[in-house]
Amino acid sequence: MSRSVIPPSEGGGFLPKYGAAVATPMVKRRQLNRNERWFFVPFAKALLYTFTRMFKRKITRQYPEQKLEAGASFHGLPVLVEKDDGSPRCVACGLCEFVCPPRAIDIVPGEIDNEIERAPKEFVIDMLRCIECSYCEEVCPEEAIVMSKDYELVGRKREDFVWDLPKLLRTQESLRDRLEFVRKTYRRWDENAEIAPPPSGVFRDPAWAGRERPNEGH
Ligand code: SF4
Ligand code: SF4
Repeated sequence: MSRSVIPPSEGGGFLPKYGAAVATPMVKRRQLNRNERWFFVPFAKALLYTFTRMFKRKITRQYPEQKLEAGASFHGLPVLVEKDDGSPRCVACGLCEFVCPPRAIDIVPGEIDNEIERAPKEFVIDMLRCIECSYCEEVCPEEAIVMSKDYELVGRKREDFVWDLPKLLRTQESLRDRLEFVRKTYRRWDENAEIAPPPSGVFRDPAWAGRERPNEGH
């Protein structure tokens, strides 16, 4: 069996080519100057940079002691909205399940004995699969699934991350600002409405309000 990747007729022959490349390397390396060879100057520069940063405003968060105070536009974990009677708003239409890119949602629809007639018998979201894209929220006709402010996801085994109805359901009051935010975004498709103002800034944390965005590289 030939070990060549490219057939010899096309100039292949992996091993001879590889051997030639090792013998005559194609990359010409720059000669280091004396400072670079001694490493003293870059080392001193790095120490000086570290020292000067000690007196600048701190931009790191001391997590987990210092939690993120997320605003309404934050994309946390998706949750289900419950009605005043404690039942889910969801009518088990399956749109969110269909649109979810990583197939994180699984719904078993069921019939109920009222004017809505449909409700999920089972509704699970695999939070390890969820990429928090909010497609499910955008597509839902009932405002039944929204992105919460929860971002902490801890468990000891895989099943801990598969959230079912009791774990997913949240009261409307606890999701009030996200629901208002979502309703504001509907105006994007309403030609007669004023255009909704964009969500304020990249940093929705009130602690960052009015501040400049720090250097991306840090
Ligand atoms: S946020 Fe995106 S990935 Fe997560 S459940 Fe919704 S559609 Fe799926
Ligand atoms: S799109 Fe909304 S109503 Fe339809 S199944 Fe998903 S959560 Fe329920």
